[in-house]
This record gives sequence, structure tokens and C-alpha cells, in this order.
Amino acid sequence: MTGRAPAASAADIVATVVRPEIRALSAYAVAKAEGMVKLDAMENPYALPAAVRERLDATLARVPVNRYPDGAADAAKDAIRRAFSISDDIGLLLANGSDELIQIITSALARPGAAMVVPEPSFVMYRMNALYAGMRFVGVPLTPDFNLDRSAMLAAIERERPALVYVAYPNNPTGNLFAASDVEALLEASPGLVVVDEAYHAFAQKSFLPRIREHANLLVLRTVSKIGMAGIRLGYAVAAPEWIAELNKVRQPYNVNALTQAGAQALLADTSWIDEQAAAIRSDRTRLEQELERLPGTTVFPTQTNFVLVRVRDANAVFDGLRERRILVKNLHGWHPLLANCLRITVGTANENDSLLAAMSVLNR
Ligand code: PMP
Repeated sequence: MTGRAPAASAADIVATVVRPEIRALSAYAVAKAEGMVKLDAMENPYALPAAVRERLDATLARVPVNRYPDGAADAAKDAIRRAFSISDDIGLLLANGSDELIQIITSALARPGAAMVVPEPSFVMYRMNALYAGMRFVGVPLTPDFNLDRSAMLAAIERERPALVYVAYPNNPTGNLFAASDVEALLEASPGLVVVDEAYHAFAQKSFLPRIREHANLLVLRTVSKIGMAGIRLGYAVAAPEWIAELNKVRQPYNVNALTQAGAQALLADTSWIDEQAAAIRSDRTRLEQELERLPGTTVFPTQTNFVLVRVRDANAVFDGLRERRILVKNLHGWHPLLANCLRITVGTANENDSLLAAMSVLNR
């Protein structure tokens, strides 16, 4: 007998010190997809063209990985500015995916009591980051046809005076592009920052980037993930330099690694391959939409992205049946009342889309 109290277990200490709202979460589930037709994560299904891959190979081999990367990522920023026509007098910040930018922006603005207003359903990481940062999350339902409920959004902005509004343009997981005039109205009414998240810009070809000088409270968020480079994890934020200067203080010193910085320069040295692949995806999307519409019991919602939201008779059964046939999509049933029996299907290669359509026609009878 030592007389000492029994040592606390890790579980006891966790229960005492980890915030209850964190303990209540489950970690973001990334489905295992080995050997599957992968239509769940809005990736571009095409490999790099040979010439681009060779350029990437040669560049990566020379990266001095014993050294920290350039903390300011200046050369990668130049490549982004040239590739996506962002002039030098507008602020630009790079990060480890736009996921990290959402974290940076949210934590910079999360003063005690501050609110975040977001239409729902939308990208789940807005809500998650509000929770991480202790920001008050105010979700405003979309209309049943997934448009912005303009008056409800304006009322929430008036009531909450949010420091931060997120609008995905086009929206994930619904796929539609909100009316530009509605987004404008939010910009006009908001006392704080409005982030227009253009992750799917390449497939909608509409952007608020040209309006940054008009709106002091506009930040446009972009990513290279949906245009063939999800693996390098690179997102960028564009806003007035005053915003970017503050967000830059919240960023980790070396948040974009050396391989990504060098890779981005090699990959973006020409953008014709990106445009060609995005055009192919847009045209395959149209065919996929048309073929899905022919299936009985299937409602296809309008999309301006590289995925299609569909409502089927029994989403759980169709999802399981697809998985048995080695096809992975995203089951959104249970996420939000507006998404009952909905599946989100990423546009794949023509062959992948054919496999999906063949399986769906059997499963959703
Ligand atoms: N914003 C939206 C609207 C998204 O759908 C996604 C990816 N699912 C992201 C941001 C995050 O993209 P990434 O971190 O790959 O840049």
C-alpha cells in the first residue's frame, strides 16, 4: 500500500480537460476507396497529361527538402497570380487546402460572442470550424429548391450582426449556383467579412473575383483540388490587402510545404490542360445529368459543379448496392431534412459514369 490514489486513466483526464463539444464529435470520415470507382469526393478523374507530369517530375526532384520552405511562398503565389489572373495590388494568401483557409479565417474572426451566418445545407467545414473556434454558428435554411432564402439571410444578418458569412458559390452539396444578386445583397448588408467560396469555379465559370475592389468586405476562396490537384493540398484566398495582412498572422509559418510550392509552379506553368479537363468534365456532367434524368424514381437537381445531387427512392439501399458493385458515392441521407434520400455523385470518366448509370438503373427500381 503506497497510500496514493489510483492514477487517473487517460479516459478520465480526457473527460476532465477536453472540451465537451469536441468529445461529442466524430472525426471527419474519409471512406476507404481502394479498388473502387471513386465518385464521392469531387476529384478530377483524369491523370496529368504526360508533358505536365514530366515537368512536375523534374521540378520535384530538385526541391531541397532538408530546408524549410519559403514561408511567404512567393514563387508559388506568383504562379497562382499568373494562372488565375489576380493582379498584384490585390491580397493573396496560400494555405494547405481551402480547408486550412476556412480555419485561419474563422479563428481570426472568432472574438467572444461573434457570430457566423451560413446558409444550410452547405459545406460542413464552416460549421465545424465555428465549433473549433468557439464562434456562434447561425444556420439559415435554403429554400426547398436550394436557393438562398434572401429575406431570411438578410434578417439573420440584421439580427446577429455576424463577423463572418460563408457562401459556397456554387454550393456543396446541392451543386447549384446561387443568384449573384442574392450574394450581392449579403455583401451589401453584412457588417463583417463575406467569404464567397468558389471551390467549383471551374465548372460554373462565374466568379466574384472581379468584384473585390467594389466590396471592402469580400474574400474569395479558391482551391486547386477540384481541377486535378487535390493531392497537393493548395487553396488560396483573395481579398483586400488589409484582410490578407491580418489572416497572414494566424497562418502557421510554413503552412504550404516545399513540394507543394514547387509542384504548383510546375503544374501551373501552363493552364491549358486544366481548362481542357474542366471542359471535358462539364460536358460529361451534362450527359450524366441527362442519363440520370431518364431513370425512373430519380430526381436530378441542377448543378454548376463537377457533381450531381440526385434524390432516389431509398438512398441507403442504393448507396449500399453501389458499394457492393465497387462504386463509391456520397450518401447525404440524414445530413439535413432538405437532403432526404439524396446522393451526391461526382462526375467521373465516361467509363466510370457508364458503370454508375448501369448500376443505378438496376438499383433504383
Ligand atoms: N469549399 C467547398 C465548398 C468544398 O466543397 C471543399 C471540398 N469538399 C472545400 C472548400 C475544401 O477544399 P480543399 O481543402 O481541398 O481545398
